[in-house]
Amino acid sequence: MPIVQVAFDLPLDRLFDYKAPDATAEDVGLRVLAPFGSTLKVGVILKVSDKSDWPEEQLRALTSVWRDVPPLAPEDLRLLGFCSTYYHHPLGAVVLGAFPPGLRRTKGWVPPRRRKAPVAGTPVPVPALTAAQGAAVDAVLEQAEKGFQAYLLHGVTGSGKTEVYLHLIRHVVSTGRQALVLTPEITLTPQLEKRFRERLPDVPMVSMHSGLGEKERAMRWLDAQGGRAAVVLGTRSAIFCPMPRLGLIVVDEEHDGSYKQQEGLRYSARDMALVRAQQLQIPVVLGSATPALESWWNAQAGRYRLLSLSERAVPGASLPRIRLVGPPPPRAPDIAPAILEAIAARLERGEQSLVFINRRGYAPVLFCSQCHWVSACDRCTANMVVHLRRRELRCHHCGQRHPIPKACPSCGNAHLETLGSGTQKVETALQTRFPAARVLRLDSDTLARPQAWEDTVQTIHDGHADILVGTQLLSKGHDFPKITLVAALGADNALYSSDFRSGERLFAQLVQVAGRAGRTAGQGEVLVQTAFSGHPLFKALLGHDYRSFAQQELEQRRLTSFPPFAYQALLRAASENPDALENFMREAAAQALALAREVEVYDPVPPPLARVSGKSRLQLLVQSSHRSRLQEFLTAWQVRLQGVSCGPVQWSLDVDPAEL
Ligand code: ADP
Ligand code: ZN
Ligand code: ZN
Repeated sequence: MPIVQVAFDLPLDRLFDYKAPDATAEDVGLRVLAPFGSTLKVGVILKVSDKSDWPEEQLRALTSVWRDVPPLAPEDLRLLGFCSTYYHHPLGAVVLGAFPPGLRRTKGWVPPRRRKAPVAGTPVPVPALTAAQGAAVDAVLEQAEKGFQAYLLHGVTGSGKTEVYLHLIRHVVSTGRQALVLTPEITLTPQLEKRFRERLPDVPMVSMHSGLGEKERAMRWLDAQGGRAAVVLGTRSAIFCPMPRLGLIVVDEEHDGSYKQQEGLRYSARDMALVRAQQLQIPVVLGSATPALESWWNAQAGRYRLLSLSERAVPGASLPRIRLVGPPPPRAPDIAPAILEAIAARLERGEQSLVFINRRGYAPVLFCSQCHWVSACDRCTANMVVHLRRRELRCHHCGQRHPIPKACPSCGNAHLETLGSGTQKVETALQTRFPAARVLRLDSDTLARPQAWEDTVQTIHDGHADILVGTQLLSKGHDFPKITLVAALGADNALYSSDFRSGERLFAQLVQVAGRAGRTAGQGEVLVQTAFSGHPLFKALLGHDYRSFAQQELEQRRLTSFPPFAYQALLRAASENPDALENFMREAAAQALALAREVEVYDPVPPPLARVSGKSRLQLLVQSSHRSRLQEFLTAWQVRLQGVSCGPVQWSLDVDPAEL
């Protein structure tokens, strides 16, 4: 009697045996419905054999084997297996997580009636490639049939990286293969999709992101798995989408933080793209104006091939001029006079300005100058942010809200002040200063509505806004031709943060926002407000010089033995009971020290947010200059950690953590 081994989405690193009279080896990768305890669960068959370690009479039979959806292919399971091993996350959870939610339900999958073929886009003229673009395309195509190669396409903003992807994709599709394109943000997907459809009007394409309904998402996933979609355009999780004839992977804005999942399976979609390409022996192209230092280092070391686009593609367009401006005197609105003047000049000429500040809300904190009370959250080590529209204080970490107090809760002072600025305060200040201007705020508060983003993009394109005030949502990928001025506020907040990657992130962010200025023609201008004009980061920024920034940053990393010169993992733990947390971490550290070979074990420390939603947190960093050593260590350590009685403590391992 055939026995199948089934994986479930459980926090357990094991498979479960079932009797399955009609199962064959072909059934590996199929979804099944199986009795589990007193319920039914959806699982995936990972092995078919004729024996079990359990006595046969104890085995239960599968309720059903679902053959309506094709099985995951061996190469899909191989990628998922790697992912489970590398991130030390249970295989069942990884495998089930690869399916769209609609195919994880116990109800079974009822395929909706097939829609009509998607409408083709309207073709648009194809620009002749610049010499640099042509060289990049040729370099990839030359190698394409020969197997795995990683490329780092380093191109300044507006240099035509997307054009390079399009050429490569057209070629790959013309040879009957599929292409997978990863994009960081859900807000970017519609724009990129539109461009792809216009340029590849005859190519069946699906986009995949979390904004889709369950049925639609499952349909598209099945189109990819069935080979009917030649191109898949998707956010992070699309990296696991089965594609039987995959011939090329593109990771756009490869440095972007959203490629790293921050909960559950803490994978990096960019890193998994490399693994998948290597397993399939196909090319992978990572594109960015500000590559992650890990990627840049890999290119320097010759592991990736570097392709450079150093000029803007549109004839006549040049990179914007960047200037630093000092902050305004204290107590004035947080916007430097030079910035206000520059905006006034744009208003006069009928051009758009973009003011970037990476903080939503009115002000990051409410403050009493008499007794120094601040609006701290009582459940988190964070301040509650002032949201003036709703007249409330909001914690951005635990979500709790209170009305703004009329007087200081501690001393009764009726004149509470706000410190610092968020998007709302900047919006108000600009509207007061320029009453006739149409000021538009873009942050996750104003863009919460599903259609809001597209409406807003249209408003900007149609020229119905003069000044845009926004968070990082505005910084990426969008082409707004009428913006000729970009002003960045609040850069200094990131300059002296405790995370060793904060400089890298700030540089990337400033380059991206600066890239919004003067995209098509004419000289754009960028003003960065800072009190630290001598900082080396700004020197590199003024010269649009990613290379020298990367070089100085890598030098630092080498001296301090931080990534990319070391591989890291972080044990994170949280508990409502601080004593239990301490005990667990002490034990975890002791176990780590006992196991460590060529692995450095740091002391447990609280993260920058030491308490969130009433739970205390501690973290423990381990690192090694050998990836394999770190992996061996983690495997052994994880087994020991599972043996530590941790009571009310939740813990998880984060391999290659993006934030410390
Ligand atoms: P990136 O992705 O590097 O930021 P894009 O691919 O979006 O750059 O290109 C920036 C702009 O340049 C777009 O408006 C695009 O249509 C235009 N463009 C790209 N390549 C060319 C080319 N070879 N000739 C003319 N215009 C181009
Ligand atoms: Zn007070
Ligand atoms: Zn809170």
